[in-house]
Amino acid sequence: MNDNKLNLIIKLSVIYLALSMIFCIFALFYTQSVKTDMEKERVENETKIAEMQMPELGGKSDGSTPEPTKTEEDIIALDGDKDAANPTAPQKTVVVLDAGHGKPSSDMSSEEKKAEGYEYNEDRGSWGEWRHYKNGTYGDDCHGSGCTMTAPSGGSCWYPMGNGDRATEPDINLQNTLAAKRYLEEMGYEVRLTRTSNEQNPSMNKRMSYCFPNNDITRQPDASLYVCIHSNAGGGSGTSYISLEGTYEQSLIPPDYVETSNNAGSIINGKVAAASGLRENSAIGGEGYLILFNKCPVPIAYLEIGFFDNSSDLAILNSSHDEIGRAIAEGVDDYLSSAR
Ligand SMILES: [Zn+2]
Ligand SMILES: [Zn+2]
Repeated sequence: MNDNKLNLIIKLSVIYLALSMIFCIFALFYTQSVKTDMEKERVENETKIAEMQMPELGGKSDGSTPEPTKTEEDIIALDGDKDAANPTAPQKTVVVLDAGHGKPSSDMSSEEKKAEGYEYNEDRGSWGEWRHYKNGTYGDDCHGSGCTMTAPSGGSCWYPMGNGDRATEPDINLQNTLAAKRYLEEMGYEVRLTRTSNEQNPSMNKRMSYCFPNNDITRQPDASLYVCIHSNAGGGSGTSYISLEGTYEQSLIPPDYVETSNNAGSIINGKVAAASGLRENSAIGGEGYLILFNKCPVPIAYLEIGFFDNSSDLAILNSSHDEIGRAIAEGVDDYLSSAR
């Protein structure tokens, strides 16, 4: 072999090696990009499948966890671009659970009261909040005139904080609420709590803000139902709900607000009675002036579960949070199924 030949072989080998390396690098990039695309597609498909598995609320009455139901719309949504057209569409039906009362006002500092949405009223010499919104508005407190009221006899526009102080009730309400939340979430609902401990006592304005996306009351409410969870006192026994009466002239109040709210209260109360053994009482009337009714932008079920100052009711209340919570969840689900 002469030198020329050897040189040529070396040159060809170097060129061959260089080409191989370039090919390898290209091949590597190509596989990576295909992988990324495949991963993207997989995630998208999984998201679509997860959305399809959202429980359908209709056609279900046995209180069990709903089976995913495929509708024609779901199948179209898989291929089409429904999500891109409406990226803010709510994923789940939203239910607000409001555990009544909370930390006693006497235990709260002025800063805490302010943070919970209360104000100090010089004229009335008390901390509290305005009960009503101005007619035809949402979010404008009445400040004593031009207000939305239903049954104002005995009621007042100004609601002093101390009126909401209770001794035993806040924790009973909270335990029932937390149990109801667990069951509703199992059923596929989004649950928002107005308070999560007995160290909180939000104003009604603050509690109501949970009906709106990100508590932003300038937007449209996205909750389907607001459930007040209370227990009663003052001599009596059994479980009940407070009925709405009259008209509510707030801009966001739907025309069938009174009927749908009372229907929700009645359905849930029946479930609670059956599950707990508490006697089922009819609706409590004549309380339509209560602050929440005038603040709520979505149907409201106001439950008075048992009498905590009655020893036999209290025994049931203390031992049946789970049963009561499940009954509330089933009642909410029944109401929302029938409301569709
Ligand atoms: Zn008023
Ligand atoms: Zn109460």
